[in-house]
Amino acid sequence: MKYWIWPLGCQMNKSDAERIEKILKSLGYKKTDDDKLADLIVVVACSVRQSAIDRVYGKFRWWAKRQKKGELIAILTGCVLDHDIQKFKPKFDLIIDLQEINKIPKFLEQTDIKFPKNYLKIDPDYISKYQAYVPISTGCNNYCTYCAVPYTRGREKSRPSKDIIAEVKNLIKKGYKEITLLGENVNSYGLDKKTEIDFPTLLEKIAKLTESGNPYSRPWIRFTSPHPKDFSDELIEVIAKYPNVCNQINLPVQSGSNAVLKKMNRPYTVAQYKNLYKKIRQEIPDVSISTDVIVGFPGETKKQFEDTAKLFKELKFNMAFTAQFSVRPGTAASQLKDNVSQLEKKRREKQLTSILMKTALDHNKKLVGTIQKILVEKYSKDHWLGRTEGMVTVRFKAPKNRRLAGRFIDIKITKAESFSLAGRI
Ligand code: SF4
Repeated sequence: MKYWIWPLGCQMNKSDAERIEKILKSLGYKKTDDDKLADLIVVVACSVRQSAIDRVYGKFRWWAKRQKKGELIAILTGCVLDHDIQKFKPKFDLIIDLQEINKIPKFLEQTDIKFPKNYLKIDPDYISKYQAYVPISTGCNNYCTYCAVPYTRGREKSRPSKDIIAEVKNLIKKGYKEITLLGENVNSYGLDKKTEIDFPTLLEKIAKLTESGNPYSRPWIRFTSPHPKDFSDELIEVIAKYPNVCNQINLPVQSGSNAVLKKMNRPYTVAQYKNLYKKIRQEIPDVSISTDVIVGFPGETKKQFEDTAKLFKELKFNMAFTAQFSVRPGTAASQLKDNVSQLEKKRREKQLTSILMKTALDHNKKLVGTIQKILVEKYSKDHWLGRTEGMVTVRFKAPKNRRLAGRFIDIKITKAESFSLAGRI
C-alpha cells in the first residue's frame, strides 16, 4: 500500500506532515511521489491563502474517479477553516484535526499500533537528512484581523521545553546541519505557561548545546516567525552572542501605515517597528532581515500604500514576502469591504518588489569577493545550490558526483543578483 502526502502552506504544515508520515510508515505504508500511484492520499491543507485551497479543488476530479472505484482513500487535515471543511466534506473519506492524527490508525482499521495523544510527542519522520523543523508552539492568540490561524490552530500552546531540547539533542546526534524552531508567534514561547522558560532562554539553551565543536559540523539554529511586539532585548543579545544562531531574522511588518496596522490588529506603530529594526541592525552586525507585508488590505488608500513603499526604501530589507490581501472567511477583516481591485493589488505588489530588488541587490553586492560558508542543498541542472547564513541562494559549479548536499562549504562569491549569488569553491 502506498501513500502520497501533500503539505501545503508554511513550514508548520510541512513539519506536521513529517509526524503523519511517521504514523503511515509505522502502519506499513510506503511513500510515493506520484498521487496517481497512491492508495492513500493525505492532504495537509492551508486555509491561510485561498490559492492553496484552490489547488486542492484542482486535484479532485481525478481522485474522485478512483475513490468511486474503491481504489483510493483520501484524508484531509492541516490548518483548515470551518468554511473550507464544510465544502470539502463530500470529497474526503476522513477529515481530521491535526491534534487527532493519532486516530489515523483506527480509521485505517489498524488498532494494534498506538500513538501518543499529544501529536507533538509523535517522533517525526524527517524528510531531509540534514535540515529539520522543530515546532516549539502551535496556535496563536494574536487575532490579526486578516489571519485564519487562531481559528484553524486555536490558542497558542507551548510545547514543554524538555521535549524540544530532547528533539534538538537527537538531531545534533544524527548530524543535522540546520535546525529551525517553529511557532506561529515563535518568540512568545512559554508565555502561556507560568512554569515554562521564555523564548530567549530556550534559544540560549539550544545554542549552548551546539556552541562548541567544529563550525563545519555543528548546526545552524534558526527560528520563525517572530512577532515584533515580543522581540525583546534579551532575544537580540542571544542572537548576537552565539555564532551558531543565524544572523537572519524574518520580522513581519505587514504595513507601513499606522492606520492600516491598527485595522490589522498589529499592536505596534511604524515608529516602534523602525526602532526595533534599527536596534537589531546595530546590535547584530551583518544581520539579514526579511519581512512579510500585505498589500491591498481593505480600505488601504494609495497614500497608505505609499507609506509602506517609503518604509521599504528606508529600511532596505534583504528580502520580503509580499501577499495580496485575500479574504479569509470568518476573520474580522472578512467583515470589511475588500475594495482594492485585483489590478491595483498587483500593481502595489510589483512596486514593492522593484524596491526590494534594488535593496536586496545592494546587500548582495557587498558579498562579492568575500568567502561565505554555505549549506549545500542540491544539484540542479548543471550546478549546485546552497544557502548562506542570511538565506541567500548561491550557485556554484562542482562535479555532480561530489555528494555535497548537506555539507557546509566555503564559497568565494563572484557575482550578485537581487535574489541569488554565484560563486566558486
Ligand atoms: S501573529 Fe497574526 S499573522 Fe501570525 S499567526 Fe498569529 S494571528 Fe496569524
